[in-house]
Amino acid sequence: MESDDLRKRTDTSSTAFAVTSSETLSADGDSTSKEVIHSRPWLKWPVAAYEPKKYWTGFLLRFAVLIALIAVLIGIGLGLRYTDGIPDHEDFSQMQFDWRVDPSSYLKPFNESFQYNTLLDGHAHSTYSDGRLNARQLLEWHIANGYNAVIVTDHNSVHGGLAVEQLALKEYADKITVIPGMEYTCCRIHMNFIDINETVPVGPPVPSDEDLRKAIERVHALGGLVIVNHIPWSNTTEYGYELPRLPNHPSVADLIDWGVDGFEVVHQDTFDYPTFQTTQARNLIQMTGTDLHHPSVAANVWLVVNAVNNTRKAIMDEIRARRTSFLFDPAGTPQRAYPVPSKKYALLSPLLTLGGYFGIFYSDSKGMYSFQGTFCHPEKLQVHKDVIGWFIFWVFIGIIAFELVRLLILVTWDVMVRRWRRRRANIMGLDE
Ligand SMILES: [Zn+2]
Ligand SMILES: [Zn+2]
Repeated sequence: MESDDLRKRTDTSSTAFAVTSSETLSADGDSTSKEVIHSRPWLKWPVAAYEPKKYWTGFLLRFAVLIALIAVLIGIGLGLRYTDGIPDHEDFSQMQFDWRVDPSSYLKPFNESFQYNTLLDGHAHSTYSDGRLNARQLLEWHIANGYNAVIVTDHNSVHGGLAVEQLALKEYADKITVIPGMEYTCCRIHMNFIDINETVPVGPPVPSDEDLRKAIERVHALGGLVIVNHIPWSNTTEYGYELPRLPNHPSVADLIDWGVDGFEVVHQDTFDYPTFQTTQARNLIQMTGTDLHHPSVAANVWLVVNAVNNTRKAIMDEIRARRTSFLFDPAGTPQRAYPVPSKKYALLSPLLTLGGYFGIFYSDSKGMYSFQGTFCHPEKLQVHKDVIGWFIFWVFIGIIAFELVRLLILVTWDVMVRRWRRRRANIMGLDE
């Protein structure tokens, strides 16, 4: 009752603390001065906040809010991690390839006396599969790096190759010739089917020897050639597994038996010398390729041929006749173009980063992708209980630190208010 009266008086008083305290002090000394404090919420708050009962109620509320917040962050982070259609973190749309490499000016062919007029990349990907460059950009990257011919081999589809060929015929006829193809991609082998105009069906993800033989036959029926790609890459041990990246790759001898026409003997900066020796001994096609996906890479290798003209047919005639050599620069061309960070990705980045952060709680490896919707190695899901345990540990350390600092601030505030109030009271007392 008494405090209600006081609150009314203090609330209506615009001249603040001094007036009220002088009034109450003169009336009732110490006990009323406590009422004065309680009548002002910002003075009442610090004292109440560390009364045990109120403290624990408040603590439980803060704790519940923190747990809910962490749960929401985990939900957003891990949810976005498994969401399709998240924009790429790089924006390739504005890329320029405005340099001109002349590899002939500093490289000699593997067969030094070889004469050539065509510099070909035998393996490249566009946005029709997982390459980052669209048809036009793919042509411009190749022209910048000294090529005047390219075999476009998107994964499991010839559509990219046909689209890039159409653009080249229309707008780049004097600069670069395109030969369409596709990269037959599965868990056992990658093969380029080149100089074809229709997609050869692929599947299953782990084909039998018979499936592979049928695919090779089909390419030959379409008039195309079969080149076995990047054997060293395929046979390198997959991280986390005691297995090759493509388990159960057919042997070179079996592949020759099945009728493949040649092998990719230089892939990016890797010269596959053992396979090269076999192709020499067996008079098979020696193909080379950049396997271009991301454009911020060097060009390392150019297949060279001396074609009667710059048509697809003339170039293929030379390849079929095994009249090829190659230029090889293991260090790669120095010029690079880099994509800019994507603005759309930047917008989501603070949320997407949570997925990376909470991803430390577990690892889920599946090995190489089959490019047919599956993965090539046994899935290994591991929950990192120790990391989760330490996360909880650090959350509790954080809570304890927060609560201690909070109490310290409240107590200091309270002490300061009491002192200040006492000093004011003394001054008022003296004034009277
Ligand atoms: Zn491949
Ligand atoms: Zn490839």
